[in-house]
Amino acid sequence: MVISPYGAYAQLGLHVHDLTIRGLHAEALLAADEAEGVLRILGDGRTYRVSRLGRMYALNALGRLDESLVIGQELVAEEGPSTGPRTTDAKILADTARGLIQVGRMDEGLHLVARAMSILDGAPRKSLRYFSAMASLADAARAAELFELAEVVMLQAIDAFDNPGNLYRSSAELEYAELLLEWSLRLEHVQRDEEAALILAKAVDIFRYWTADDAEVPLGEALLAVGYAKQGRNADAQRLVGKHLMAMRAAGQSHESRLLHLAHGVVLRSAGDYRAARREFLAAVELCLLPAQSLNFHYELAVTAALETPGEAASTMLAALQAHIGMLWQLRQDRRTMLQQSYRRVELETARTTADQAATSDALTGLGNRRLFDQRMATPAGSEALLLIDVDKFKAINDAFSHGIGDRVLVEIAVALRAHCRPGEVAIRLGGDEFALFLSAGELEARQVAERIRQVILTRDWDSIAPGLTVTLSMGLAICRPGETGAGLYDRADANLYAAKRGGRNRLAAAA
Ligand code: GH3
Ligand code: MG
Repeated sequence: MVISPYGAYAQLGLHVHDLTIRGLHAEALLAADEAEGVLRILGDGRTYRVSRLGRMYALNALGRLDESLVIGQELVAEEGPSTGPRTTDAKILADTARGLIQVGRMDEGLHLVARAMSILDGAPRKSLRYFSAMASLADAARAAELFELAEVVMLQAIDAFDNPGNLYRSSAELEYAELLLEWSLRLEHVQRDEEAALILAKAVDIFRYWTADDAEVPLGEALLAVGYAKQGRNADAQRLVGKHLMAMRAAGQSHESRLLHLAHGVVLRSAGDYRAARREFLAAVELCLLPAQSLNFHYELAVTAALETPGEAASTMLAALQAHIGMLWQLRQDRRTMLQQSYRRVELETARTTADQAATSDALTGLGNRRLFDQRMATPAGSEALLLIDVDKFKAINDAFSHGIGDRVLVEIAVALRAHCRPGEVAIRLGGDEFALFLSAGELEARQVAERIRQVILTRDWDSIAPGLTVTLSMGLAICRPGETGAGLYDRADANLYAAKRGGRNRLAAAA
């Protein structure tokens, strides 16, 4: 069995993601059904989360926004201080935020944006995971039309790549320029033409740069076509439309097709062919999956109608649409304020919990410390089990290898313990080479968990840390009896641990 930061049965969860990434969304949902059933029984809470997340992306890709939102919120609610890489939590928050914003639940969405921002502020910045979370955050900001924020976030995300040749770098740059394009379109709608032209020029430069060499980048060229059309470079725009539109439609690439129809429509309109232009914009509307995607095309339709049949009716309609978009634009100010307030609140909460956590956590392993153990012991434990764990001949490991290797061993054990904790279960380092695990399990199940941990440590490839290194554990288990005090429970577990040591080590004892 493989222990990973995702949990003991990581493969099951990662398989779900793999299917979604390959566009097999329906298959991903089936795989998620299976994985989650198994993982629930095995009690691997972390991998369960990974599978739920894969399910959320699959539902989202299928346009089943409501269902994906429910999962997002469930994952966000479960999020705890030590349930996996924080950057992944931030990504979940940002993805869920975007969903909430898209369905108009702005306050809740922005609050999650603030939480994601707060986590990412302190996250290590040079990883694909960081980039991915930041890109999600930018998407959420963009959904709220907070373009300025989305830009800052996206530029920081691109900074995650040291190497300009990185494969992800070009798609990140394209995403950034696409954001600029959308921003400039919106500025055009609210008649801030100068700003719109400046931002558009920046976007076009980026599209040109990343589509310059021979590599086929249909999305980049579709975006570039829109940029050219808006700049009045009709021949250039038309060339790209001719090159890609049929192929993109045939391949079912609705995003690229919408962009190319938009570019084509703008070109046709400026040549005076209003009827043909309208056909293009309508074709784009038809390819929209979400209502929010069609705003740009409706705007172009209104402009076209006003040109085609000059008169009061058409110009009134255009004015009404512009007033509506103008009002939405004004609302951005409120959103910014809302986001700032949320952010400040989150920062305060974080500072408080960080202080609480530092006081109850072990610096070397990040597990709970003796203070947390004492707190848990002071409250009646109910049906819990207590497992005490001590490394065998740990002094000899320190002596034969080094204190540093000894520390590595302790950290690796902590990783294994944490991976076996379900939500609500707590792993603690009591000090030195002694650990404790509070399990919410009956005797049979607790024994199984203990045996699994013992096996994992026994069979782990310690050679890769130091040639010749082996590590074994002795364990004492006690199941809480009705009315028993914490001290009583501890004494029995400790007596069992002693028995395991005396019995030859590398074993579990649970008799007393
Ligand atoms: P036993 O099988 O009886 O448990 O033998 P043992 O050698 O493990 O005995 P004991 O539990 O008494 O030894 C614990 C050792 O752990 C003693 C101490 O030097 C070492 N130690 C305590 N804290 C740390 C630490 O933070 N890092 C490292 N590397 N060693 C530590
Ligand atoms: Mg020991």
